[in-house]
Amino acid sequence: MKLLIATRNRGKAAEIRALLGLGLQKNVEVLTLPDLPTASDLREEGKTFSENARKKALHYAKEHKILCIADDSGLSVEALGGRPGVLSARYAGAQATDEKNIALLLEELSPSPKPWSAAFLCVAAAALPGRVIAEATGRVDGEIVSAPRGESGFGYDPVFRVKGSPKTMAELTTEEKNKISHRGQSIRILMEELRNSGMFG
Ligand code: IMP
Repeated sequence: MKLLIATRNRGKAAEIRALLGLGLQKNVEVLTLPDLPTASDLREEGKTFSENARKKALHYAKEHKILCIADDSGLSVEALGGRPGVLSARYAGAQATDEKNIALLLEELSPSPKPWSAAFLCVAAAALPGRVIAEATGRVDGEIVSAPRGESGFGYDPVFRVKGSPKTMAELTTEEKNKISHRGQSIRILMEELRNSGMFG
């Protein structure tokens, strides 16, 4: 059996692969979009994480006639009214990089008093051709720190300090991050739903 993770983001793919590896039987082959040369590009134009995750899962499930898991995630900052939210990946514009996004975030936050409360949110959806079969949400709270710290993870991880911990997300190993992260939570719940529905035999 094949399962597609609908992402080209290497950081995300590595995290989801590690999460799936914990609960999947050996006979499930896990693919990501770069493994499928004919995979089309899909613009994420929805207003919510759920809308984007469902649309992405359905699109690639149909295109490749496969069980597909997609997630949509982002950072929500209280002092910015919930931004960058669904625009997290492109916060600094079409040519955004993680570094540019972080620089813009710190610049926009600088006039606001600390603490800069924030949360990472993630909605994961699973689809077969023509129908969404499961959906799950995860959230992790924390605060934005004024200077990046740590080398692991991706995106805003170096400036997101996890609530109740001295460490930023980028100072955690993949295993430690997956235990607490928004993506870890949503993928674990999703896989539980899929297992309960008999999807993996
Ligand atoms: P998308 O889910 O592919 O639309 O991308 C979400 C964007 O939100 C990423 O490109 C990151 O900028 C940010 N993001 C989502 N999850 C994380 C995370 O676990 N760590 C750091 N940044 C994240």
